Amino acid sequence: MSYKNSEKLYKKGQKHLVGAVNSPVRAFASVGGNPLFIESAKGTKITDVDGNKYIDLVLSYGPMILGHRNKKVEKAIKKALKNGYTFGASTKNEIKLAKIVCDAFPGMDKVRFVSSGTEAVLSALRLARAYTGKDKIIKFSGCYHGHSDALLVAAGSGLATLSIPGSKGVPKGAVKNTLIAEYNNLESVKKHIENHKDIAAIIIEPVGGNMGVVIPQDGFLNELKELAKANDILLIADEVMTGFRSKFGGAQELFNVEADITCLGKVIGGGFPVGAYGARNEIMEMVAPLGGMYQAGTLSGNPIAMASGIATLLELKEQNPYGKFNEIGEEIENYLLKSAKKYNVDLVVNRYGSMINPFFTSKKVTDFKSAQTSDTSKFGVFFWEMIRNGVFLPPSQFEAWFLSSELSDKDLEKIEKAIDKAMCSVSGNL
Ligand SMILES: *Cc1c(COP(=O)(O)O)cnc(C)c1O
Repeated sequence: MSYKNSEKLYKKGQKHLVGAVNSPVRAFASVGGNPLFIESAKGTKITDVDGNKYIDLVLSYGPMILGHRNKKVEKAIKKALKNGYTFGASTKNEIKLAKIVCDAFPGMDKVRFVSSGTEAVLSALRLARAYTGKDKIIKFSGCYHGHSDALLVAAGSGLATLSIPGSKGVPKGAVKNTLIAEYNNLESVKKHIENHKDIAAIIIEPVGGNMGVVIPQDGFLNELKELAKANDILLIADEVMTGFRSKFGGAQELFNVEADITCLGKVIGGGFPVGAYGARNEIMEMVAPLGGMYQAGTLSGNPIAMASGIATLLELKEQNPYGKFNEIGEEIENYLLKSAKKYNVDLVVNRYGSMINPFFTSKKVTDFKSAQTSDTSKFGVFFWEMIRNGVFLPPSQFEAWFLSSELSDKDLEKIEKAIDKAMCSVSGNL
């Protein structure tokens, strides 16, 4: 396998792009080597600029849940293109996508479309503050909610609990209202509520996806909701990653919990930039033009993106791949564990619908701290052996692998063969 063309582009790209990437997760910083440059993708496969073909378990970090270039989605996009790209005025399809989304989430009467997950979440926070008249928020260590200032804390450091910014350039003032709790630990939330009277919202990934996959323990989300309600705090479910993923109604449907505000992204645009936040009427009526909370966007509700989102969600509804995701996920999980046992490698696997994550540790992974017990150097070895055997994974221990509804038995066989080789390689036996 040659990566010559990728290497060339990587060198060339560094002149005018920062690290030759437009999002740091695409750099191969934690696995070593150069990032791959992609030429094209179709179905379950992605092809790099050297002509190497991989089964794609990155799927653009989630959006391509139907696989690449689904026929119906592509047809809808082409049709939309013919009518023009953007108008700065409303279109019929915005209403159509709004209905599909509001029908999927019982706590959502109205929705506002934006252009990214980051934008959805930062707007949801502003809305929670506008509605409650309070300033503070609670977020969980290890949860990622986009790159807005107030939320760039505890996305990965031991300084997190002190609310010290996790990124340079974030002023102290921007995070002074951000309180950090521990995932799956209700007591850590209660403590903040006892100590602070002015908490507007608790924001959570209902299934953690940005510290590797971390599942909420039995009752955690429901108890969180009760706690929030009893203290006039809004619960914000950041379902940018989990929305439409294990159930059409996201993690909230699966765990039977209803958030006050829901944030969406990724799948909702089917590969185009769409984010959304929604809630019941009395909350959404705070948003301009109905209310005094301002939020706007030149390309919000973009016609091409709306067409792609509608076609993707309708196709998801029709295919209803959620049973299949569970079956494939379970098979990959079992195979990973079997293979780890065969080569005597410590491994824990977490899984939620079409998201799956192996951690190279013997500890149960239930929060950010336990996720960090994973041996990332082993992951680096595993990652490259998977690449050499034709499976494209996210280049980080702490990113979920994503499954598409197009995965075939043949793909699965190939994935399992690659896992066997990669695990062997991790154990030092290859
Ligand atoms: C990806 C993600 C975001 C940010 O979305 P962008 O479209 O990258 O801005 C926010 N929250 C969660 C849970 C995510 O997974």
